[in-house]
Amino acid sequence: MKTLANHESSTLSDEPLGSTIARRITSRIEEELARPLEPGLYVVSTPIGNISDITLRALTVLARADIVYCEDTRHSKRLLTAYGLAPKQLRYDDHTGDKMRPQILQKLADGASLALISDAGTPLISDPGFKLVRAVLEAGYPVRSVPGPSAAIAGLSVSGLPTAPFFFEGFLPPKPMARRKRLAQLANMPASLIFYEAPTRVLACLTDMLAELGDRQVAVLRELTKKFEETMGGTLSAVLQQLSQQQKLRGEFVIVTAPPSTAKKPSRQEIEAAFEDLLDKVSFRDAVRRIAAQFDLPRKQVYELGLALTTSRCPSQDQTPGGEPDNEPDGA
Ligand code: SAM
Repeated sequence: MKTLANHESSTLSDEPLGSTIARRITSRIEEELARPLEPGLYVVSTPIGNISDITLRALTVLARADIVYCEDTRHSKRLLTAYGLAPKQLRYDDHTGDKMRPQILQKLADGASLALISDAGTPLISDPGFKLVRAVLEAGYPVRSVPGPSAAIAGLSVSGLPTAPFFFEGFLPPKPMARRKRLAQLANMPASLIFYEAPTRVLACLTDMLAELGDRQVAVLRELTKKFEETMGGTLSAVLQQLSQQQKLRGEFVIVTAPPSTAKKPSRQEIEAAFEDLLDKVSFRDAVRRIAAQFDLPRKQVYELGLALTTSRCPSQDQTPGGEPDNEPDGA
């Protein structure tokens, strides 16, 4: 059996490694529990899947808090019960927030120690709590972080894409037009971009990313820390193709896209030359697709250049060239 002795140092005892770890964890927890919890609001991270991903400090704060505010009390009760905790729980979410905040401020005025948790990960990160933290800070009470998992950081750290700078977007708008508009605004940001997405929208979202961000590198992280954890990486077009072959997408997803390519951008003349070459052979739509992929440019930009070029070639034609891309920019 593995012992701490053979694992770490021969001067330590030969007790099984599990017992040693358990004993040390227990004494650390007992030390923490023996200290009163300072008054204030504690923003506590909880697991994003694997129930073991909770810190000792999170457990001891949740054990000692006068009230644990939960996004969903029933959901969080399962986690609390798994660790033998039975604190007083109250709901705090976007529906109850306006009503709850004055009560919470009053409890803080009375010297209470309060914890805020969400269904998974770090509260406020695409989860409720922002207005509460701001109100507590404005009222002059302490807000303390009890950090831990967040799907955004977990996903970024295993994405294989640059980790600095990064930009956390969270959920894109669900409606296609608004989503494409937002992606177009993000297209030139020199950072890795982190998105959250529901399984029902992952494909549509990746399709819009391909159109608006160009065929850049992407990592799709599914079910992080869970049994069916999966990481997919490659160009947007390749990952999109791989995912489209799956029957029904299930699970939770983080999408990370690489920063735009820093390779020298092609000149307008180079793009026009590519159009001149292709337009005799393929449709306008295919030319746009191929040129966007060739130069790693957003399709919208290539489409607009192509449109200007074809209009100047045939000024009498006021028609849009045939075969517009499926995901044509709004109003084009
Ligand atoms: N507060 C959470 C955090 O810190 O990550 C995020 C809450 S947000 C409502 C839920 C979204 O986070 C999911 O739709 C998914 O995009 C992402 N997510 C949460 N857990 C995940 C996991 N285990 N694997 C992949 N994505 C996850």
